[in-house]
Amino acid sequence: MSADAAFAPGVDMPRFGQITFVGIGLVNGSLARDVRRLGLAERLVATARRGETLDQARALGLVDAATPDAAAAVRGADLVVLGVPVGASGAAARAIAPGLRRGAIVTDVGSVKAGVIDLVSPHLDMRRFVPGHPVAGTENSGPAAAVERLFQGRWCILTPLAETDALAVARVAALWRAVGSRVELMDAAHHDKVLAVTSHLPHLLAFNIVNTADDLEGVLKGEVLKYAAGGFTDFTRIAASDPTMWRDVFLHNKTAVLEIVGRYIEDLVALQRAIRWNEADALHQRFESARAVRREVVRAGQAYKRVPSIGCERAEERQTAARRGAMSDPAERRERVGGG
Ligand code: NAP
Repeated sequence: MSADAAFAPGVDMPRFGQITFVGIGLVNGSLARDVRRLGLAERLVATARRGETLDQARALGLVDAATPDAAAAVRGADLVVLGVPVGASGAAARAIAPGLRRGAIVTDVGSVKAGVIDLVSPHLDMRRFVPGHPVAGTENSGPAAAVERLFQGRWCILTPLAETDALAVARVAALWRAVGSRVELMDAAHHDKVLAVTSHLPHLLAFNIVNTADDLEGVLKGEVLKYAAGGFTDFTRIAASDPTMWRDVFLHNKTAVLEIVGRYIEDLVALQRAIRWNEADALHQRFESARAVRREVVRAGQAYKRVPSIGCERAEERQTAARRGAMSDPAERRERVGGG
């Protein structure tokens, strides 16, 4: 199936009867907010393990109904979106399978693609499963972290298999486009390699840098927290991301992550050596080339200049920004974590 076939004109504004969200946290909750705002579905249903999650999703108005019974939740749905930690995808697929109606499309938002495909394939009709990954997120989690327009101007990568039904891909692509994403089709293994570099490695470094600082002794550790603004705070924000989600990302994208960690260590050792031997030119050249990459990323529209008062990390800022319409302009939005 070609990309053109998947994105044929006429399927641009999708309409669904019932959409069921399996897991209703940051990503699925944000999608539910946009689906409701844009009127893309008649009925929204959620399922999760804990009553607290379901109560919150209902109270926040993310969905019309919520139940811990996964099979019951997907009954009557024409689209089901798996939004659980990637390691839980197989169990989630097994739990929904008895309730799926014939022809229902199932998709997911997991940060790893080949691993999710392996986990769900024993339980689902893979012709109607569209693996997906919206490359957008924040360090917050749970239904209360859900925000409108999270996906606006961000990529959503779909990794259909050879047997995936082209119409199912087109419907899911249309949904992501409707919420403002740019959609790209990619092979699952390729996706996992790319994301290992752009997302998984940076998160691993953040977790490690923060832990290295935390392991320091006494006064030094206190000083680190006191003077944290010098770059360290950015790492603490990324390192505040959900531990379960990230544990699963690394366990299910092991090969690509280990490959890139190996290359990173080589480059780090080269820098270590340049510092030891006062190789000023070598250091300058490495920093200069890194700076050029930043300019390219900004040009590609994937990073924004910081606007100090529109961080949108805090609810009141978010509300003010939304009232001013600032959130609809990605260039004015916060520097997101970038999505797992
Ligand atoms: P989240 O906010 O923590 O929400 C996860 C949801 O899944 C919750 O409703 C949770 O409710 C449920 N859940 C957790 N563990 C489960 C399990 N073992 N079985 C069934 N349900 C479970 O997570 P999220 O950030 O939305 O991430 C969801 C998916 O999106 C992940 O696969 C992640 O890789 C991907 N993703 C995340 C980001 C990001 O920046 N966070 C970006 C792009 C993609 P209960 O605990 O009540 O079950």
